[in-house]
Amino acid sequence: MYRSENLMYLVALVSRLQTNDEEFTSIQEAYYRINAGIAGEVKMKRTLEDYHFIGPYKIFYNFECVNEKGFSHQIDALIITTRFLLVVEVKQISGTLFYKPTFHEFARQTEEGIIENFPNPFDQAYRHKLFLSHLLSKCGIQLSVLYIVVNANIRTKLDSSLDGSPIIYLSGLPNFLEKLYAKYAETTVDLDQLESKLLAISCRLPVRRKIERDRIRDGVLCEKCEFQHVLYYHHGLWICPHCGEKSKEAIFLALHQYRVLIGDRITNRELRAFVGIDCKAVASKLLKRLNFEQFGKGRGVYYLIPEDVLEQVR
Ligand SMILES: [Zn+2]
Repeated sequence: MYRSENLMYLVALVSRLQTNDEEFTSIQEAYYRINAGIAGEVKMKRTLEDYHFIGPYKIFYNFECVNEKGFSHQIDALIITTRFLLVVEVKQISGTLFYKPTFHEFARQTEEGIIENFPNPFDQAYRHKLFLSHLLSKCGIQLSVLYIVVNANIRTKLDSSLDGSPIIYLSGLPNFLEKLYAKYAETTVDLDQLESKLLAISCRLPVRRKIERDRIRDGVLCEKCEFQHVLYYHHGLWICPHCGEKSKEAIFLALHQYRVLIGDRITNRELRAFVGIDCKAVASKLLKRLNFEQFGKGRGVYYLIPEDVLEQVR
């Protein structure tokens, strides 16, 4: 499934931020939240794969784009059929959910009884719907745009204050789709054409906020030790002083994290500082073996860490 830049950044960041960093806990929480969200999206994908769509359809998961005013949209799923276009917002919030429709106020009560407000998913989904309706009418495409909030956590309780709001349990999604099929008539919309219009505006949203370089830990970290320990380099192997793990490949994950957190360019000096190799010749040899594309001349030489650096593990 498609993963956002933000997620990739957070995953790398939680393993590389100093544990005593003032934002460590909040970043870890953001990471858990985004992971829960993904678990919800995976479940929804399975439900949709199991469902028999009536006629042609296309689904975009995690559709990201920037609107003409420069604001971003991140849509969990966009289901396109020849009868309707459905925006799906997936939630995987635990506890009990409450809603005050008059105020558009959305809250949850944790099992410990703590009540906290959450971004209103109806308003989020409605905003996507307005944007897409506008886009379709601009393109002269006549198709109803609808939205639904899907709760993917079966343990979540929906308070009766949510009665009448567009929220359902994931298991109800097939039935919801059947009702849409019954309600909306077939159109002559060309799905391929609509798909290419949507693809044309889709983009990968950049990471919302980046952490300063000096707050990111150096070193090739031991994955087995949950990134707590720094590996040292010895005769072509990365060795963990804590668990004794020996690996040739640990450098790839470290460089992937460098690329995500810091940037895709790295010089010999930056590499040495990052992975903890003192000797320039050893670093040069390592870089040669990595076979990264090289740019610049003399002191300005730098290497480009490829996007698929993790796939180079051999
Ligand atoms: Zn280890």
